[in-house]
Amino acid sequence: MNESVTTRFAPSPTGRLHLGHAYSAIRAHDFARENGGRFLLRFEDIDPGRVRPEYYDAIEEDLAWLGLEWDGEPVRQSRRLPLYEDTLETLKMRGLVYPCFCTRKEIAAEIAASASAPHPPPSGPDGALYPGTCRHLSEAERQRRMAREPHGWRLDMGEAAALAGPLSWEDAEAGLVEATPEIHGDVVLARKDAPTSYHLAVTVDDAAQGISDVVRGRDLFEATHVHRLLQALLGRPTPRYHHHALIADGEGKRLAKRDDARSLLALREAGIEGGEVAAALRADPPDISILSPAD
Ligand code: GLU
Repeated sequence: MNESVTTRFAPSPTGRLHLGHAYSAIRAHDFARENGGRFLLRFEDIDPGRVRPEYYDAIEEDLAWLGLEWDGEPVRQSRRLPLYEDTLETLKMRGLVYPCFCTRKEIAAEIAASASAPHPPPSGPDGALYPGTCRHLSEAERQRRMAREPHGWRLDMGEAAALAGPLSWEDAEAGLVEATPEIHGDVVLARKDAPTSYHLAVTVDDAAQGISDVVRGRDLFEATHVHRLLQALLGRPTPRYHHHALIADGEGKRLAKRDDARSLLALREAGIEGGEVAAALRADPPDISILSPAD
């Protein structure tokens, strides 16, 4: 086995897998196997409000139905929270994160209020950036509010990016990409309801699991700017990235994440074999026209 290649599939157990997930899983799996490497399964289950226990088994069942085998026991992020907490602690000690007390509603109101100002708030890949409200609080104010208000933690992006300096990553599809994490503003590194966020957990785990090649959809390309910065701040290695195209349906429409008609379960119930689905997704370009029982 070529230990130097390790990939992972990292679904969130918040629903059944659909064709888009299957495509990503196959790409990550096949890349590992073609290189004699390892393929790992990691459940990204840090969102207590959306995770449903029945989906862990359902996802494993769907992957097995596609004919995919993973190496070792699947990892659950929900069992690794102390690790993320420790990592966040190191960023706190370096003054690179600050507590944020804002609710979504307050942030939206502040953005709406400043939209008509001479300098409207800048936008990032996920919409308007966090306006930085809590970045300006005094230390005394922070301490006072932390004692009694729920709070998350945000990265002080200006500080962090300046400290890290110029960064880039190697992308199999896009070539050498210059990291511009500033486009995301002060991202959340710990949520009010969990001591981590997607960005922090993924960075810690890709390093801890020795992931050499992150194979995932292009919809996560922009997130890599943040991950690259966190790797630099935390002294973690940078994997190679393969941001693959997202599969589209017959009309070129991107498959929606919650398109239940395209869930693997729906295909299975329509009498289609997992092997057929996998073969259609392995075609170049993927041919999903035969997989439309609901049309
Ligand atoms: N958990 C993410 C998702 O289901 C994938 C994260 C990743 O591949 O980095 O979209």
